[in-house]
Amino acid sequence: MESATRPLDALLDLLLPTRCAGCGAARSQLCSGCRTALARATGHPVRPDPPPPGLPPVFAAAEYAGPVRALLLAHKERGALRLAAPLGAALATAVRAAAGLPAPAGGPLLLVPVPSTRRAVRARGHDPVQRLARAALRQLRREGLHGRTAPLLRPVRAVADQSGLTAPERWRNLTGALAVRPSAAPLLHRRPVVLVDDLVTTGASLAEAARALAAAGAEVVAAATVAATARRDRGRRAGGPGARTGPTP
Ligand SMILES: [Zn+2]
Repeated sequence: MESATRPLDALLDLLLPTRCAGCGAARSQLCSGCRTALARATGHPVRPDPPPPGLPPVFAAAEYAGPVRALLLAHKERGALRLAAPLGAALATAVRAAAGLPAPAGGPLLLVPVPSTRRAVRARGHDPVQRLARAALRQLRREGLHGRTAPLLRPVRAVADQSGLTAPERWRNLTGALAVRPSAAPLLHRRPVVLVDDLVTTGASLAEAARALAAAGAEVVAAATVAATARRDRGRRAGGPGARTGPTP
């Protein structure tokens, strides 16, 4: 896909002068420096402190800072959809680490995105995590992995805005907020699941997603994200510098 879109990207960048969404450099939505920084990202284990109950092992490709933070926000909040491919490739490194690839156990890998609320999807005009999951899968397929993305989770009740809540308050706010679509149960049979999200902060939404999938009989082996916040919440109020932007945790 990328080889087909790059010449078009180059042409559009020429016709529509733009700036790098990562660092502000002129002439390209993703400058070569930021592209290289993303390409160097590799999946590594991260652990929120304290971890919410039931959080699976989490792997992130990069720290949520600098160009990576700016690129994720541009993709998520400002509809910079062409960033999905390079961000998805970074996510793929976290998925590989999460699944213990290149030899995942069981059947084809299922990548299950953490869902956005309907309101957020409407406001943004797209579902950024689902888009990143599909981009990551395209990268993994180029590397020979058998798998598919499966948006099996859905919000089943409203949750309060997470900003301003301590980590334990976030866990309580989210518990029971997600469920597996009833038609999805056969898909989960004997297939290892890797949860995917753009960002891990307290781990509350990943833990809730893992709980909902386990309740439906899934084997959640791990979670993978593009980025992880460096801040570790020890009961302090969330919402300071480095806290997740937007209504989701
Ligand atoms: Zn840049």
